[in-house]
Amino acid sequence: MNRASLQQQEMGLGPAWQPRAGWFGQHPAQLLRQSLQTAVAQTEPPAMAMAATPPEPLPAHRAELAAPPEAPQIAAQAPEPTPIISSLVERAPTTEPLRAEVHAELVPVDWPLLQRKVADCQDCRLCETRTQTVFGRGTPQARWMLIGEAPGENEDRQGLPFVGRAGQLLDNMLSAAGLDRDQDVYIANVLKCRPPGNRNPAPDEIAACNGYLLQQIRHIQPTLIIALGRFAAQTLLETEDSIGRLRGKVHRYQGVPLVVSYHPAYLLRNQPDKAKAWQDLLLARKIFRQAES
Ligand code: SF4
Repeated sequence: MNRASLQQQEMGLGPAWQPRAGWFGQHPAQLLRQSLQTAVAQTEPPAMAMAATPPEPLPAHRAELAAPPEAPQIAAQAPEPTPIISSLVERAPTTEPLRAEVHAELVPVDWPLLQRKVADCQDCRLCETRTQTVFGRGTPQARWMLIGEAPGENEDRQGLPFVGRAGQLLDNMLSAAGLDRDQDVYIANVLKCRPPGNRNPAPDEIAACNGYLLQQIRHIQPTLIIALGRFAAQTLLETEDSIGRLRGKVHRYQGVPLVVSYHPAYLLRNQPDKAKAWQDLLLARKIFRQAES
């Protein structure tokens, strides 16, 4: 304890606030950033690296998601970069191979094939502990897209996102806002497999699964996205800002307006914040109407 803390304690002011060592350094968004920085550093110089080493073939089960030779042109035509790509672009010129890799995930795959790819996916360690994958729920024609973190125990068992009491609360809130969960909204998670014990997803798991979420967004082309919960919001927006700082604003993900709100499981434990979640829904509805008009 430092001198100031000892003085405060003597004065009866209680222990001083101490940041938890390493918390920010261990945050998945920070770890993902570090892993990308390391990958970027390892690609230097990009032209030589590409010339000397031909790209490794993808596993067979990923082959249909792979980029055709013209993938870099697709990257050049992309209207808006993903947050991941934006951070890479800032580090140009050493980022070209990684940009091509990220855009490789955007090669269109039809919806049934995408569902099969996810169901069979073994691209990260979570495939070893899942009961089944959780692809999403709703109609691909939905104009609203809700994105949570990852399946929990019930979702892993049932193969559907947001089931149980939290799902019921979400249904009720959507219904109160005039939205039908199955007709108007598509619900998905950042990760399609449950992290054991509901632990936080690891950066390499997020990176491995990211292409599936991008494909879903590409198919659905939602008018609006709502990020549900701190983790989903921080991951999609690549920030460590608190949910309190992220709420009440309109962000963008993949060029789509994105509003941040609380995870319904959190609201079950923190009833007073339901009013704030309702405000978030009203903001989302306003943005949706503006975007659709
Ligand atoms: S979490 Fe995503 S990348 Fe990992 S095994 Fe499941 S579907 Fe594949």
